[in-house]
Amino acid sequence: MSIKNHPDPATLLSFAAGTLPEALAAAVAAHAALCAECRGEIADMELIGASLMLRTEPVERPTRSVVRAPAPGLPSPKLPATTRDFHDDRLPSPIARVYGLTFDTIPWKRLGPGVWHHRLPLTDGVEGDLRLLKIAAGRRMPEHGHGGSELTLVLDGAYSDETGTFRFGDIQDVDEDIEHTPMADPDVGCVCLIASDRPARFKGLVARLVQPWTGL
Ligand SMILES: [Zn+2]
Repeated sequence: MSIKNHPDPATLLSFAAGTLPEALAAAVAAHAALCAECRGEIADMELIGASLMLRTEPVERPTRSVVRAPAPGLPSPKLPATTRDFHDDRLPSPIARVYGLTFDTIPWKRLGPGVWHHRLPLTDGVEGDLRLLKIAAGRRMPEHGHGGSELTLVLDGAYSDETGTFRFGDIQDVDEDIEHTPMADPDVGCVCLIASDRPARFKGLVARLVQPWTGL
């Protein structure tokens, strides 16, 4: 496996610090489960953060206090040491474990011709959007901008846009400055995990995706 696209360093740092919004953190955890490089970087960042906190507060706070508590309903930040157990399923372990799914048991709901989704609930009251999206071969998504941060992790097949091609394990980290026109692989289509920290904006994207067919 050769993963070429990783989260931005700032995104990894926020993840390591425990400050990344829940939906985005889930996508980073899922990517890191597939990517030894990012697991290493996150571990390094956590160590640096821990040593800084220990240095500034050597007595009052026990070592335990620098370990992030996982957000309710989210994967533990403790990342697996190997990727072996992910090879028999394309759904990364953090998502599979929390949502009780395998790749073949995702209850897809049809959004329109060639587009299916399955929404993954976040903790009550948490803003954001996390969902699995399946796009048929060759289907082009409408051009769209982003009102916040959005992470797209490829779980099967591939998609391309103006910036390149994204395959299994690749994650695209975009913000509101990016406008792009992704198209699913013309032979095999694409299944991806899409996370956004802004529910309205992501809803906007989905709405635009399905508007021609459902009038959402
Ligand atoms: Zn990575």
